[in-house]
Amino acid sequence: MPRSSKSANRRILIVPIFLPQRGCPHQCIFCNQITITGVYPKLPLREELRSQAEQFLTYQKCRPNRIQIAIFGGNFLGLPHDDILTLLTEATHLLKAWPDSGIRFSTRPDTITTEQLEFIREFPVQTVEIGAQSMNDFVLARSKRGHTAKDTARAVALLKQHSYEVGIQMMTGLPADTPAGALETGRRIVALAPAFVRIYPVLVLKNSPLAKQFQNGQYTPPSLEESVTLVKQLWQLFNQNKITVIRMGLQVSATLIRKGEILAGPFHPAFGHLVYEAFFFDKAATVIKAAFPDLQSMGDTIALSVHPRDVSKLRGLNNRNIRRFKKRFKVTHVKVLPDSGLSQNSVVLGSIKS
Ligand code: SF4
Repeated sequence: MPRSSKSANRRILIVPIFLPQRGCPHQCIFCNQITITGVYPKLPLREELRSQAEQFLTYQKCRPNRIQIAIFGGNFLGLPHDDILTLLTEATHLLKAWPDSGIRFSTRPDTITTEQLEFIREFPVQTVEIGAQSMNDFVLARSKRGHTAKDTARAVALLKQHSYEVGIQMMTGLPADTPAGALETGRRIVALAPAFVRIYPVLVLKNSPLAKQFQNGQYTPPSLEESVTLVKQLWQLFNQNKITVIRMGLQVSATLIRKGEILAGPFHPAFGHLVYEAFFFDKAATVIKAAFPDLQSMGDTIALSVHPRDVSKLRGLNNRNIRRFKKRFKVTHVKVLPDSGLSQNSVVLGSIKS
């Protein structure tokens, strides 16, 4: 059965089915989930799944044409086969009223085998996200991932052979990793040509093995500023290679922001926005410097035009970029002009009408 090869760019509604983390062979160093003991709690029943999905759809402003049921859990293909079958069967049932819709899940690269793909073949799985985290075997070993970069490359190739849309998750700030190492991971992911990526800076979470290393001084996380700079470079790398970055920074959940859950690390509830803000600051500064190399003839107002979707990214959180432009270029006014004729991620000098 041919799989959907639709791009991640296409607007679809993702219906998340939250399951407690399951299917992990052990605990990775940065993860705060309880190590799997081999005893799996009861899976949600069809009614529970249906009510979760319907509740989610009720809160959406408009009814989408296409949905994907996303099974979020640690390691989907690491679950016992009975559980995989139950979840896929229930999700397929929920999709009956939604033509062209499907299922997505995330899983470890070492769970993707020909046998596993044969096992799920009959279900409308469209997208598989692989937790690669790094493409450096030493870094993977230090994080106790239990798989290698080769496993990731092999998994991507196998999924593509079976026509699945493939996404890859990577992390920055892993123990023993460096910004140069993370960029190398980025380049190796580009070579695998996934449809999309997610970039997660490591956080030191309570009760994770990394928390111990942090507390005894063996691990120091990068600062928020360093992480934003690195993720910006990664975002540019993927963007230049036409690979969509669908997420930067962990999703903020009530549990995550509960006081004391994050011990350290570059957490910000709008991490992705900070990355865009940094990118647009650099981009606009380059444009301004190219137009006014001596910064003399600028006058006291700068006008910058961007695509309407980029206005808030150029302005920055709470207009932070505007303040930075004023300080850096010694101007009194900075005007941001939306221009739908421009392509996204570009900045040009705008004209100021008097
Ligand atoms: S990082 Fe992923 S694979 Fe590792 S323990 Fe956590 S959920 Fe499982």
